[in-house]
Amino acid sequence: MLRWMLIVFFLPTILFAQTSLKEQYPDVTIQKRPGITAVFGATMNEADDAPSAAINWLGQYQNVFGIDNLDLELIRTNELKFGTHSVFVYRQMIGEVPVEESFVRIVVANGEKAVVSFVTGKYLVSAAEFPKPQIDASEALAVPSQMAQYRNLTIWEDPELAIFREPIPTQVWKFAGESKDLANPERYIFFVDTANGNLVHVEDDVHYDIWGNVSGYASPGTQPDLPGNPPDLFTMSDIKVWIDGGSGVFTNRDGDYRLPYPTPYRVDVVTNINQGMWAAVYNIGGDDLKLLQSAVGGEQHDFIYNIDTEEFDTSQVNAFIHVTSTHNFYKDRAPTFTALDVSFHTDVNVNSVCNAYFMGNRIVFFRAGGNPFGMTCVNTAYSQVIAHEYGHFVVNRLGLAQGAFGEGYADAVSLLQYDDYLVGRDFCMENTSIRDYSCEPVTYPCEIPQQCNTECFRHGWVHGCGKMLGGLWWLIRQNLGDVYGPEVGLEVTQQLFVDWSLITNGGEPVGSNP
Ligand SMILES: [Zn+2]
Repeated sequence: MLRWMLIVFFLPTILFAQTSLKEQYPDVTIQKRPGITAVFGATMNEADDAPSAAINWLGQYQNVFGIDNLDLELIRTNELKFGTHSVFVYRQMIGEVPVEESFVRIVVANGEKAVVSFVTGKYLVSAAEFPKPQIDASEALAVPSQMAQYRNLTIWEDPELAIFREPIPTQVWKFAGESKDLANPERYIFFVDTANGNLVHVEDDVHYDIWGNVSGYASPGTQPDLPGNPPDLFTMSDIKVWIDGGSGVFTNRDGDYRLPYPTPYRVDVVTNINQGMWAAVYNIGGDDLKLLQSAVGGEQHDFIYNIDTEEFDTSQVNAFIHVTSTHNFYKDRAPTFTALDVSFHTDVNVNSVCNAYFMGNRIVFFRAGGNPFGMTCVNTAYSQVIAHEYGHFVVNRLGLAQGAFGEGYADAVSLLQYDDYLVGRDFCMENTSIRDYSCEPVTYPCEIPQQCNTECFRHGWVHGCGKMLGGLWWLIRQNLGDVYGPEVGLEVTQQLFVDWSLITNGGEPVGSNP
């Protein structure tokens, strides 16, 4: 009976309001569903400024929402599109208690005059007040805090009165409970019925991941960091991104990451060049590259290493990318070969020139510059030199002796990963190399072919005789390319090489053939 009376009572008012708006603005469209209204299609309530336009519209037409005593509280105003529009957002209040997820939004276009262009509302149709709470705030707090599944929550907000909309409007105490563990965050919002203490609703308030991409400027192709080969942007896989003071993840092959430790708090998200899954790069010439961004859940944060493309930074990104790619060259073809699965210590920008080396548990690269013998070299941390030094690490992990076998094997890692017949391309500046595999092959037993010395390198025994093994693999690559075509031929050779790596006995004793 009461319901009928309300409808009878309100109906003329609603009709009057809508008719009035329609009469004033014939182009206006009014869309209505219970508790939801949208008004658009006309510019309304011209005024000198945006707040006046919004307030005037509400004063004249708010009955279009169908509630006689709609009580609205302004909760925010924002500028849109660089000030061309303003939005005024209100929430519905019933007896000074806010209605959850209720709103009226008024969009005002700011020209010479301000005009209302769009209004939407979501609200409770009945504005009847609720009785005084039967349970108080501390009794409400006790309800979830005594439940076993919320025992990790130690931070409790003060309860506030609210009106919960679904399934039937209910007056509740609303409050959040949080855990202190940032790595495993928990935060829930509780809604406790003020009439009987029932837990009407629990909302998991940890929704938002932080995600993005990590990339860096590195030397393209197989050439080093020379003016003719400026750094370009490459994605960085297998690098750690983490929440400062919390846990982290590694980027995938596309350089993408998603932190599944969502947080409603603002946090610092960090990545560091010495924190890779397969590469830990240390800058001996200064600080290690590190990036930090302040972030909150739900945001995308991309990280770009080496924006300034300085030598000592490019070398760090080069080392990271090529140590990682060489590791993955094996991992992709021999997933059970776990002996390489370490974050490999890589020193770059060491204060010397024209060399790089492998030393048991690390690889080391020198900075650019000239030596006393009149030779000028690039920074040695680039693709082929990195792959070669990592190749020595593989030989070590396989439990084999280095010697000529190690040199030839390490060259093969470069030759086959990059499909380039030169090793150390442009090592001592443009149009040079360390070893040239287009040169006459070395045959068994090894005689060092001095005619194959290069601009940067005079062959001694280990490297010269190592060319017998490297050259063998380069020949296999070319022959399989002839049979299967260049691409399939390369793939087959790469797989064959990795398979062979796992079964080879290595070379002859030191001082002999590879
Ligand atoms: Zn070597």
